[in-house]
Amino acid sequence: MKFRNFKMVDYVIYGRGSFAQLAEIIAPRRKNGAPMIFLVDHFFENKPFTKQIPVEGTDKVIFADVTYEPKTTYVDRISKELKDEFGQVSGIIGIGGGSTMDLAKAVSLMMTNDGSSADYQGWDLVKKPGVYKVGIPTLSGTGAEVSRTTVLTGPTRKLGMNSDFTPFDQIVLDPALTSNAPVNQRFYTGMDCYIHCIESLQGTYLNEFSKSYGEKALELCRKVFVAKEKWNDESDDQLMMASYAGGMSIAYSQVGVAHAVSYGLSYLLGTKHGIGNCIVFDKLEEYYPEGVKEFKYMVEKNKVEIPQNITKGLSDADFNKMIDVSLGMKPLWENALGKDWEKIMTRDKLRALYEKL
Ligand code: NAD
Ligand code: ZN
Repeated sequence: MKFRNFKMVDYVIYGRGSFAQLAEIIAPRRKNGAPMIFLVDHFFENKPFTKQIPVEGTDKVIFADVTYEPKTTYVDRISKELKDEFGQVSGIIGIGGGSTMDLAKAVSLMMTNDGSSADYQGWDLVKKPGVYKVGIPTLSGTGAEVSRTTVLTGPTRKLGMNSDFTPFDQIVLDPALTSNAPVNQRFYTGMDCYIHCIESLQGTYLNEFSKSYGEKALELCRKVFVAKEKWNDESDDQLMMASYAGGMSIAYSQVGVAHAVSYGLSYLLGTKHGIGNCIVFDKLEEYYPEGVKEFKYMVEKNKVEIPQNITKGLSDADFNKMIDVSLGMKPLWENALGKDWEKIMTRDKLRALYEKL
């Protein structure tokens, strides 16, 4: 048995209003006049919040277009433009949802590693540490703030740059930044955390480390989406910690069926991560009976819509593509169904599941 020795985020600050300390936190990281780059979710363009970003000297604010989930081409373009304009930068500060945080991690790595980010999609392929990077979530649930990966869609696959160089040097967890998020988006991203917890807690990879964090994250998700009558500041505080704990839980375990199937949807149809997981999880009674029952209750209570029939009319080739992508996620299937997962999740069975979505 070989145990994973994992790299974690170096510094964490948590608290409502903690964003105001960003200037002070990054000051010692400013190097010989090289700028800090603020990569900010495009939702915030022209919003009053941008006035709080501690821009100095030659610092630059780039609004990240997250209409689509991050692509390797987009990462390569931003990092090339920064190298052309500045040579080197003091750091990359990602402010946004999981997509913007992943972009920030990837751009930081591509400021020092040669070639294309597509060359590093996989496990432990990144050669050098990136530049200083900070993650500041404005949506809670993905766990991208603590993870050792950055999920990118490349020319041939959707896969993360998984490495010890990937985690942020600093994260700023300020729940006030999530308060503008629309109800549906907050639910979809929040459910990413809920689904991570169910998949991790029922997985075969589970150990006490993962369980401790996973149970706490699940308890917080339930407070937010099951127990509470009305969304309030405390909900934002709790969901931000649920996301953090959910991410920590995954460090030692894995996600499961919903994620493996949703990757296929996202690859073929561009379905976004949070909503894609919800679409799939809604149909997984066979694998996660209790979790799916509670999920349906949360959907109803929070008055959100889960799209139906999204695979209707797809061709055999389309289904086969999704099945290929999904079955490629071996560790997820093994975590969910055990070592003999290939005997359980046959292509026919997976096809039938995709047809239900
Ligand atoms: P997102 O970052 O894709 O953003 C979704 C939408 O919400 C966007 O339109 C964005 O502009 C908007 N938004 C963000 N913050 C807002 C706010 N405060 N108010 C209003 N609107 C806001 O959504 P997400 O669910 O946080 O992230 C999904 C992404 O995270 C996917 O790309 C997925 O691959 C990635 N992910 C990464 C990891 C990891 O470990 N690295 C884990 C899970 C998911
Ligand atoms: Zn997820």
